[in-house]
Amino acid sequence: MISEISFKFRFVSKGQATGLRSKMGMITETGLQLGEDLIEYTDIIETIVRDKRLVMATDGREPFVIEVYGIKARELEKQIDRISSAQLSQRKKADLELAGEGHKFRTATCPECHATIDLSGYEKSNYIYCRFCECLLDRDGQVVNSGDHYRVCDECGMFDRVKGYTEFYFYFLLVVYGFSSKRRHVCDNCAHKLFLKTFFINLIFILGIIPSIVLKLKSLSGRATNFEGLPKANKLASKGKFIEADQQYTSILQAHPEHPGLLYNQAKAHLVGGDAGQGVSLLERSLKSCVNYLPSQQMVVALSEATEQKQL
Ligand SMILES: [Zn+2]
Ligand SMILES: [Zn+2]
Repeated sequence: MISEISFKFRFVSKGQATGLRSKMGMITETGLQLGEDLIEYTDIIETIVRDKRLVMATDGREPFVIEVYGIKARELEKQIDRISSAQLSQRKKADLELAGEGHKFRTATCPECHATIDLSGYEKSNYIYCRFCECLLDRDGQVVNSGDHYRVCDECGMFDRVKGYTEFYFYFLLVVYGFSSKRRHVCDNCAHKLFLKTFFINLIFILGIIPSIVLKLKSLSGRATNFEGLPKANKLASKGKFIEADQQYTSILQAHPEHPGLLYNQAKAHLVGGDAGQGVSLLERSLKSCVNYLPSQQMVVALSEATEQKQL
Protein backbone atom coordinates (compact mmCIF):
# COMPACT_ATOMS: atom_id res chain seq x y z
CA MET A 1 0.00 0.00 0.00
CA ILE A 2 1.48 3.33 -1.10
CA SER A 3 0.10 6.53 0.41
CA GLU A 4 -0.02 9.39 -2.05
CA ILE A 5 2.12 12.41 -1.22
CA SER A 6 2.07 15.57 -3.32
CA PHE A 7 4.68 18.30 -3.48
CA LYS A 8 5.90 21.08 -5.74
CA PHE A 9 9.22 21.20 -7.51
CA ARG A 10 11.37 22.95 -10.06
CA PHE A 11 14.07 21.40 -12.25
CA VAL A 12 17.57 22.70 -11.49
CA SER A 13 19.88 23.60 -14.34
CA LYS A 14 23.40 25.01 -13.96
CA GLY A 15 22.82 25.42 -10.22
CA GLN A 16 19.62 27.47 -10.63
CA ALA A 17 15.97 26.43 -10.19
CA THR A 18 14.29 26.97 -13.57
CA GLY A 19 10.80 27.97 -14.72
CA LEU A 20 8.57 30.79 -13.55
CA ARG A 21 6.12 28.50 -11.80
CA SER A 22 6.79 25.34 -9.87
CA LYS A 23 5.40 22.01 -11.15
CA MET A 24 3.33 19.41 -9.31
CA GLY A 25 4.91 16.18 -8.19
CA MET A 26 3.31 13.16 -6.56
CA ILE A 27 4.17 9.79 -5.11
CA THR A 28 1.50 7.50 -6.60
CA GLU A 29 0.72 3.80 -6.66
CA THR A 30 2.18 3.43 -10.16
CA GLY A 31 5.27 5.62 -9.88
CA LEU A 32 6.78 8.98 -9.14
CA GLN A 33 4.89 11.66 -11.06
CA LEU A 34 7.07 14.68 -11.94
CA GLY A 35 4.96 17.10 -13.96
CA GLU A 36 4.11 15.18 -17.16
CA ASP A 37 6.65 12.42 -16.48
CA LEU A 38 5.93 9.17 -14.65
CA ILE A 39 9.00 7.40 -13.32
CA GLU A 40 8.60 3.76 -12.31
CA TYR A 41 10.06 3.01 -8.89
CA THR A 42 12.10 0.09 -10.21
CA ASP A 43 13.83 2.45 -12.70
CA ILE A 44 15.30 4.55 -9.88
CA ILE A 45 19.00 3.82 -9.50
CA GLU A 46 20.21 6.48 -7.06
CA THR A 47 18.86 9.42 -5.06
CA ILE A 48 20.97 11.99 -3.20
CA VAL A 49 19.74 14.96 -1.15
CA ARG A 50 21.67 18.14 -0.45
CA ASP A 51 19.53 20.72 1.38
CA LYS A 52 16.31 21.37 -0.64
CA ARG A 53 17.59 19.53 -3.73
CA LEU A 54 17.14 15.96 -4.81
CA VAL A 55 19.52 14.43 -7.36
CA MET A 56 18.11 11.43 -9.21
CA ALA A 57 19.71 8.85 -11.45
CA THR A 58 17.19 6.68 -13.30
CA ASP A 59 17.32 4.02 -15.95
CA GLY A 60 17.03 5.45 -19.45
CA ARG A 61 17.32 9.16 -18.55
CA GLU A 62 20.13 11.61 -17.90
CA PRO A 63 20.60 12.24 -14.16
CA PHE A 64 18.64 15.32 -13.08
CA VAL A 65 18.17 17.61 -10.07
CA ILE A 66 14.94 19.04 -8.67
CA GLU A 67 14.37 21.63 -5.96
CA VAL A 68 11.53 20.49 -3.72
CA TYR A 69 8.86 22.58 -1.98
CA GLY A 70 6.04 21.64 0.43
CA ILE A 71 7.92 18.63 1.85
CA LYS A 72 11.49 18.25 3.05
CA ALA A 73 13.64 16.85 0.22
CA ARG A 74 15.07 14.32 2.71
CA GLU A 75 11.55 13.09 3.57
CA LEU A 76 10.64 12.78 -0.10
CA GLU A 77 13.86 10.87 -0.80
CA LYS A 78 13.15 8.47 2.09
CA GLN A 79 9.66 7.74 0.75
CA ILE A 80 10.95 7.13 -2.78
CA ASP A 81 13.83 4.92 -1.59
CA ARG A 82 11.54 2.95 0.71
CA ILE A 83 9.16 2.07 -2.16
CA SER A 84 11.77 1.50 -4.87
CA SER A 85 14.06 -0.62 -2.66
CA ALA A 86 11.12 -2.80 -1.58
CA GLN A 87 9.98 -3.27 -5.20
CA LEU A 88 13.52 -3.99 -6.42
CA SER A 89 14.07 -6.57 -3.69
CA GLN A 90 10.79 -8.32 -4.64
CA ARG A 91 12.01 -8.46 -8.23
CA LYS A 92 15.33 -9.89 -7.02
CA LYS A 93 13.47 -12.51 -4.98
CA ALA A 94 11.44 -13.59 -8.01
CA ASP A 95 14.59 -13.75 -10.20
CA LEU A 96 16.45 -15.87 -7.64
CA GLU A 97 13.50 -18.22 -7.22
CA LEU A 98 13.26 -18.61 -10.99
CA ALA A 99 16.93 -19.57 -11.08
CA GLY A 100 16.34 -22.09 -8.25
CA GLU A 101 18.39 -19.96 -5.84
CA GLY A 102 15.60 -18.63 -3.64
CA HIS A 103 17.60 -19.58 -0.52
CA LYS A 104 20.13 -16.83 -1.37
CA PHE A 105 17.53 -14.09 -0.88
CA ARG A 106 18.31 -12.02 2.24
CA THR A 107 17.34 -8.46 3.19
CA ALA A 108 17.47 -6.07 6.14
CA THR A 109 15.32 -3.02 6.82
CA CYS A 110 17.18 0.18 7.64
CA PRO A 111 15.88 1.66 10.91
CA GLU A 112 16.93 5.17 9.80
CA CYS A 113 15.25 5.44 6.38
CA HIS A 114 13.13 2.22 6.25
CA ALA A 115 14.64 1.19 2.91
CA THR A 116 15.09 -2.51 2.13
CA ILE A 117 18.79 -3.37 2.00
CA ASP A 118 19.42 -6.26 -0.37
CA LEU A 119 21.98 -8.64 1.15
CA SER A 120 21.27 -11.59 -1.17
CA GLY A 121 24.39 -13.59 -1.89
CA TYR A 122 26.49 -11.75 0.70
CA GLU A 123 28.13 -13.47 3.66
CA LYS A 124 27.07 -12.20 7.09
CA SER A 125 29.40 -9.52 8.47
CA ASN A 126 29.85 -7.33 11.57
CA TYR A 127 28.29 -4.30 9.94
CA ILE A 128 25.62 -3.58 7.31
CA TYR A 129 25.71 -0.46 5.15
CA CYS A 130 22.56 1.30 3.95
CA ARG A 131 23.42 2.86 0.59
CA PHE A 132 20.17 4.86 0.67
CA CYS A 133 20.88 6.99 3.75
CA GLU A 134 24.61 6.11 4.07
CA CYS A 135 24.21 4.93 7.64
CA LEU A 136 26.09 2.06 9.20
CA LEU A 137 24.27 -0.65 11.16
CA ASP A 138 25.65 -3.38 13.38
CA ARG A 139 24.85 -7.04 12.69
CA ASP A 140 21.67 -6.73 14.78
CA GLY A 141 20.45 -3.86 12.61
CA GLN A 142 21.09 -1.10 15.19
CA VAL A 143 22.41 2.25 13.93
CA VAL A 144 26.15 2.73 14.57
CA ASN A 145 26.59 5.99 12.61
CA SER A 146 23.83 7.98 11.00
CA GLY A 147 24.68 8.97 7.41
CA ASP A 148 23.34 12.47 8.16
CA HIS A 149 26.38 13.12 10.36
CA TYR A 150 29.10 10.62 9.50
CA ARG A 151 29.72 9.61 5.92
CA VAL A 152 32.16 10.01 3.02
CA CYS A 153 32.81 13.73 2.38
CA ASP A 154 31.54 15.17 -0.95
CA GLU A 155 34.84 16.89 -1.64
CA CYS A 156 37.81 14.89 -0.31
CA GLY A 157 36.21 11.43 -0.27
CA MET A 158 37.19 10.67 3.36
CA PHE A 159 34.82 9.13 5.92
CA ASP A 160 34.31 11.76 8.63
CA ARG A 161 31.76 13.98 10.30
CA VAL A 162 30.03 15.93 7.49
CA LYS A 163 27.96 19.11 7.77
CA GLY A 164 26.42 21.58 5.35
CA TYR A 165 28.11 24.98 5.26
CA THR A 166 27.31 28.24 3.55
CA GLU A 167 30.32 29.80 1.93
CA PHE A 168 30.28 33.57 1.95
CA TYR A 169 32.14 35.91 -0.29
CA PHE A 170 31.43 39.52 0.37
CA TYR A 171 32.38 41.77 -2.44
CA PHE A 172 32.43 45.42 -3.06
CA LEU A 173 31.31 46.91 -6.35
CA LEU A 174 32.03 50.64 -6.40
CA VAL A 175 29.21 51.86 -4.20
CA VAL A 176 27.19 48.66 -3.91
CA TYR A 177 27.71 46.01 -1.27
CA GLY A 178 26.51 42.56 -2.09
CA PHE A 179 27.29 39.01 -1.22
CA SER A 180 27.22 35.61 -2.82
CA SER A 181 26.98 32.31 -1.06
CA LYS A 182 26.78 28.66 -1.93
CA ARG A 183 26.15 25.53 0.06
CA ARG A 184 28.73 22.80 0.39
CA HIS A 185 28.58 19.56 2.35
CA VAL A 186 32.03 18.76 3.62
CA CYS A 187 34.02 17.09 6.42
CA ASP A 188 35.82 18.99 9.18
CA ASN A 189 39.15 19.10 7.30
CA CYS A 190 37.48 20.52 4.19
CA ALA A 191 35.56 22.95 6.45
CA HIS A 192 38.90 24.19 7.79
CA LYS A 193 40.18 24.75 4.24
CA LEU A 194 36.94 26.55 3.43
CA PHE A 195 37.40 28.67 6.56
CA LEU A 196 40.92 29.71 5.54
CA LYS A 197 39.74 30.49 2.01
CA THR A 198 36.74 32.54 3.09
CA PHE A 199 38.65 34.15 5.95
CA PHE A 200 41.44 35.54 3.80
CA ILE A 201 39.16 36.58 0.95
CA ASN A 202 36.88 38.27 3.45
CA LEU A 203 39.66 39.91 5.44
CA ILE A 204 39.56 42.86 3.08
CA PHE A 205 35.85 43.30 3.63
CA ILE A 206 35.41 43.09 7.37
CA LEU A 207 31.69 42.24 7.19
CA GLY A 208 32.37 38.81 5.79
CA ILE A 209 34.62 37.67 8.61
CA ILE A 210 31.70 37.00 10.93
CA PRO A 211 30.21 34.19 8.76
CA SER A 212 33.75 32.76 8.35
CA ILE A 213 34.19 32.49 12.11
CA VAL A 214 30.71 31.00 12.54
CA LEU A 215 31.67 28.40 9.93
CA LYS A 216 34.86 27.51 11.85
CA LEU A 217 33.02 27.23 15.16
CA LYS A 218 30.42 24.97 13.53
CA SER A 219 33.18 22.66 12.31
CA LEU A 220 34.66 22.43 15.82
CA SER A 221 31.44 21.72 17.69
CA GLY A 222 29.39 18.60 18.21
CA ARG A 223 31.91 15.90 17.33
CA ALA A 224 31.36 12.49 18.87
CA THR A 225 34.19 12.26 21.41
CA ASN A 226 35.26 8.78 20.36
CA PHE A 227 35.91 10.03 16.81
CA GLU A 228 38.35 12.58 18.25
CA GLY A 229 41.52 12.59 16.18
CA LEU A 230 39.77 11.54 12.95
CA PRO A 231 40.30 14.85 11.06
CA LYS A 232 44.02 14.70 12.01
CA ALA A 233 44.30 11.09 10.82
CA ASN A 234 42.48 11.94 7.58
CA LYS A 235 44.75 14.91 6.94
CA LEU A 236 47.78 12.64 7.19
CA ALA A 237 46.01 10.03 5.03
CA SER A 238 45.23 12.47 2.24
CA LYS A 239 48.95 13.34 2.09
CA GLY A 240 49.86 9.64 1.94
CA LYS A 241 51.73 9.78 5.28
CA PHE A 242 50.57 6.30 6.17
CA ILE A 243 53.03 5.54 8.99
CA GLU A 244 51.79 8.49 11.09
CA ALA A 245 48.19 7.97 9.89
CA ASP A 246 48.30 4.29 10.94
CA GLN A 247 49.10 5.28 14.54
CA GLN A 248 46.08 7.59 14.64
CA TYR A 249 43.69 5.11 13.01
CA THR A 250 44.84 2.27 15.26
CA SER A 251 43.89 4.27 18.34
CA ILE A 252 40.49 5.39 16.90
CA LEU A 253 39.78 1.80 15.80
CA GLN A 254 40.07 0.69 19.43
CA ALA A 255 36.79 2.49 20.14
CA HIS A 256 35.24 1.26 16.84
CA PRO A 257 36.63 -2.21 16.15
CA GLU A 258 36.95 -2.93 12.40
CA HIS A 259 34.85 0.14 11.47
CA PRO A 260 34.64 -0.09 7.65
CA GLY A 261 34.81 3.71 7.12
CA LEU A 262 37.97 4.04 9.20
CA LEU A 263 39.60 1.09 7.41
CA TYR A 264 38.60 2.67 4.10
CA ASN A 265 40.35 5.93 5.08
CA GLN A 266 43.40 4.00 6.25
CA ALA A 267 43.48 2.14 2.93
CA LYS A 268 43.49 5.49 1.15
CA ALA A 269 46.51 6.62 3.21
CA HIS A 270 48.47 3.61 1.91
CA LEU A 271 47.23 3.95 -1.66
CA VAL A 272 48.07 7.67 -1.81
CA GLY A 273 51.45 6.94 -0.19
CA GLY A 274 52.27 4.34 -2.89
CA ASP A 275 51.89 1.27 -0.66
CA ALA A 276 49.30 -0.50 -2.83
CA GLY A 277 49.74 -3.94 -1.20
CA GLN A 278 48.75 -2.76 2.28
CA GLY A 279 46.10 -0.45 0.77
CA VAL A 280 44.35 -3.35 -0.93
CA SER A 281 44.52 -5.56 2.15
CA LEU A 282 42.94 -2.77 4.24
CA LEU A 283 40.13 -2.52 1.68
CA GLU A 284 39.64 -6.27 1.98
CA ARG A 285 39.50 -5.89 5.77
CA SER A 286 36.91 -3.11 5.38
CA LEU A 287 34.76 -5.36 3.17
CA LYS A 288 35.20 -8.35 5.45
CA SER A 289 33.88 -6.22 8.29
CA CYS A 290 31.03 -4.73 6.22
CA VAL A 291 30.40 -6.86 3.18
CA ASN A 292 28.28 -4.27 1.32
CA TYR A 293 30.24 -1.10 2.24
CA LEU A 294 29.80 0.80 -1.00
CA PRO A 295 32.76 3.26 -0.75
CA SER A 296 35.20 0.33 -0.39
CA GLN A 297 33.45 -1.65 -3.15
CA GLN A 298 33.71 1.37 -5.46
CA MET A 299 37.38 1.81 -4.59
CA VAL A 300 38.09 -1.85 -5.42
CA VAL A 301 36.33 -1.43 -8.80
CA ALA A 302 38.29 1.78 -9.52
CA LEU A 303 41.58 0.05 -8.63
CA SER A 304 40.89 -3.00 -10.78
CA GLU A 305 39.89 -0.77 -13.71
CA ALA A 306 43.10 1.24 -13.28
CA THR A 307 45.16 -1.99 -13.18
CA GLU A 308 43.45 -3.25 -16.37
CA GLN A 309 44.20 0.08 -18.11
CA LYS A 310 47.87 -0.28 -17.17
CA GLN A 311 48.01 -3.79 -18.61
CA LEU A 312 46.52 -2.74 -21.96
ZN1 LIG B 1 18.96 3.81 5.46
ZN1 LIG C 1 36.40 16.53 3.14
